[in-house]
Amino acid sequence: HLSKRLATVAQFVPENSRLADIGSDHAFLPIYLSQQKRIQAAVAGEVITGPFEIAHQHVQNYGLQTTIDVRLGDGLEVLSPTDDGIDCIVIAGMGGLLITEILERGQQHLNGHERLILQANITEPAVREWLMNHGYQIIDEDIVAEENHIYEVIVAEPTVTPVRYTESQLLFGPVLMQKQPTDFITKWTQMRTKRQHLLGQLEQAQSAPVAKVQEVQHELQLIEEMMA
Ligand code: SAM
Repeated sequence: HLSKRLATVAQFVPENSRLADIGSDHAFLPIYLSQQKRIQAAVAGEVITGPFEIAHQHVQNYGLQTTIDVRLGDGLEVLSPTDDGIDCIVIAGMGGLLITEILERGQQHLNGHERLILQANITEPAVREWLMNHGYQIIDEDIVAEENHIYEVIVAEPTVTPVRYTESQLLFGPVLMQKQPTDFITKWTQMRTKRQHLLGQLEQAQSAPVAKVQEVQHELQLIEEMMA
């Protein structure tokens, strides 16, 4: 049984994939997909020894050690672009900046044919910007509310024709702003209220930096245009 968030990630893993789950923690995602016979093979990468050992133990307990290879290491360095034949990489449950750092540092470990499924807890626009600047296009997105947070999932594939996203597309997500699902409306309604409060506070403050006021005004304007 997966959390709603990980189930949303899982739906984008193509049937019969050779999956890499980077920052796998307890390897819940590859174990689930493997039990469902949805993947051919998986590498579960984890940089911290404790979770790595637990992941290894879980995989043994489920008897999945021929399908799931648990590897200790930093980011994409656990992958061999020539030997593993990975076609789908999940990086989920981290900040957007950490996700872009992992991708940036690990580029020589990619074979250039992987679908990326990225679920950042915060700073999603940085992930979209990285993808745009490194030859990927965003082919799908989803959004899911769980407990007190709303999570976005970004699915990208390499493209030969570079894509340029607008500021709004980077902020809201090119697919999400088209589809505007319920959780998306909820998220940006909340964000609008927060920005309005912040702007009110800044305007009352004696020495609010002009640049900060303008930044918040600009973001509010983008939110209002998008929701109009
Ligand atoms: N991916 C799982 C999920 O979405 O539920 C686990 C998310 S957990 C909050 C983040 C995991 O990423 C932690 O287990 C952490 O140790 C691992 N991690 C952080 N930086 C990493 C890196 N550079 N390489 C591999 N794993 C990393």
